[in-house]
Amino acid sequence: MSSHSRKLKFKAETRKVLDIVINSLYSHPDIFLRELISNSSDALDKLRFEMLTSPDLGSDRKPRIDILPDKDNRTLIVRDNGIGMTGDEMAKELGTIASSGTRGFLEEMGELNAEKTPELIGQFGVGFYSTFMVADKVEVLSRRTGSDEPGQKWTSTGHDTFTLIEEDDIPEGTSVILHLKDDMDEYLENFKLRELVRKYSDFISYPVYLKSDDESDWEKEPVNTQKPIWIRSEDDVSDKEYNEFYRHLSFDPQEPISKLVFHAEGTTEFYSLLFIPSMRTMEMLMPDYKTGLRLFIKKVMIEEEAEELLPRYLRFIKGVVESSDLPLNISRETLQENRTIRTIRKALTGKVLGWFREILDNDIDKYHKFFTNFGDLIKEGIYSDVQNREELADLLLVWTSRSGDEQKSLKKLVEELPEGTDRLYYITGTDRKELASSPYLESVGKSDTEVLLFDSPVDEFMLQNLGEYRGKKLVSLLKEVNEEDLSDAEKAEKKNAEETFAGLLEYIKDQLGDRVEDVRFAPRLKESPCILVSDRNDPGEMFRQMMKSMNQELPNAKKILELNPVHPVIETLQNLYEKDRSGDKLKDYVNILFDLGTVMAGGRPENPADFGKKVTSLLS
Ligand code: ADP
Repeated sequence: MSSHSRKLKFKAETRKVLDIVINSLYSHPDIFLRELISNSSDALDKLRFEMLTSPDLGSDRKPRIDILPDKDNRTLIVRDNGIGMTGDEMAKELGTIASSGTRGFLEEMGELNAEKTPELIGQFGVGFYSTFMVADKVEVLSRRTGSDEPGQKWTSTGHDTFTLIEEDDIPEGTSVILHLKDDMDEYLENFKLRELVRKYSDFISYPVYLKSDDESDWEKEPVNTQKPIWIRSEDDVSDKEYNEFYRHLSFDPQEPISKLVFHAEGTTEFYSLLFIPSMRTMEMLMPDYKTGLRLFIKKVMIEEEAEELLPRYLRFIKGVVESSDLPLNISRETLQENRTIRTIRKALTGKVLGWFREILDNDIDKYHKFFTNFGDLIKEGIYSDVQNREELADLLLVWTSRSGDEQKSLKKLVEELPEGTDRLYYITGTDRKELASSPYLESVGKSDTEVLLFDSPVDEFMLQNLGEYRGKKLVSLLKEVNEEDLSDAEKAEKKNAEETFAGLLEYIKDQLGDRVEDVRFAPRLKESPCILVSDRNDPGEMFRQMMKSMNQELPNAKKILELNPVHPVIETLQNLYEKDRSGDKLKDYVNILFDLGTVMAGGRPENPADFGKKVTSLLS
């Protein structure tokens, strides 16, 4: 008997989960088995990894997971020879909630009503605690592999407390003994157990053996396929199996948006299985979000979150990469410098971008879902991944002055542009609805020019880096036109206007004085006589607002007044200038013009009362 016995209380969070599980309607009791097998598989992964660095552990262990139904005692045992736990680890791991899956479950529970509970347990599994759906008492016998400490037995009925007691003769690894509830006899039947392993745990890469309930002998063959799911041919694996594996990997209760199976051959060989999660979580957008793919080398899980396998902006992708071309003794620190890793990363990135493009080309609805969730990260890629910039830009969905309620593919939009179009106009802001009715759209002729509308803070950063797309210059309507962006015809038109209206232009500049930075002819204007724009180096309104939110005010830059050289208003001003350039009328008109430019830019006239008076007198 033990010299060492402890009675401990569950942590409050754990209590809550246990209450929910015990009182739920048992609509998904089956899932307890998948949770136990999943834990065993993780424990075997950890042991394999430790064997690399601790020669004392030996190398002749045969990893396995056993399922032992016992009809006489009405117990079901799930056992593994994995890493095992010390007494303290059992107290901690089985008494508190550590896993993101279980925590996620509690978070969801907070928002939902009790009717949803059984559904959620089915989705999340809630790990080890789901055993209390089928058992009224659970014992865990465990001993840390390679440790001198004796094994311990953890016992609980799922109520307030659990006990820990030292016991002799506990083998290395872990056995979970379920004392089944009265109505749970089906979990003693081999056909049922076999069905559950095949359904939920076939991807587990360790053999799962089943002890026959009638012959009290072991079945000869493992129940599961064992070949890692990422190595199996796509044709041999059902969607259901892929989805189960995704769940095991990500704790995401929803199905993934898409999966990619990719086997690279050649100088560097690797297998990969990747998923796009069902949706983005807030954490994914944080720059310090811990992420990465699971990295296996020669069947050993080396890293749970190997960040080096994909660029940072693809941090939302979940999945596995296995390569035999890497040394087993690679450390976290040396992963980054490793050439093979860099080769894999490059190949994988190209493949992933191709995968996105394929969804865009073949399943636009799915792509919309993808882009709504992860579009901001694609944009992040555009400013951080110079090499793939153009390809990433191909993946953009954009709002435009004509897009209505659905974003358009930028690539498609550009392909359908009228011949000879060399510019893409855009405006930026914070509210898409406001942008869609912005007066700036009029400036280039709303009816014949489709203008891109950018309303997300990452858009500004992206646009600063993008500059042009597929040979089309990206030109902001809110900013002055670059001289080099003008076509030859436009340059000529501008020069001609500057000569014809030289005197008038000087006069206007004089009149407006330091209210403007400059006054210029801008041949891009179509419908409006004039518009106020920003200097091209102006960081933009969104940036200004962002800085303001961080308590840093940027000075408001002076604006540039652009005039439409072919607008009749200019003609009228020119006539006045020729006839009576010292009269009040011309002066008034110029002031009205400036106020009009302000209004066209969505602003307020400097002195609304005065503006009103002048316009009224003009009308009468
Ligand atoms: P999760 O597996 O999602 O982290 P669980 O509640 O299922 O959450 O398990 C809690 C922890 O208990 C695991 O993270 C692991 O550290 C430990 N554990 C559970 N089962 C085993 C096992 N068979 N062998 C070793 N450790 C285990």
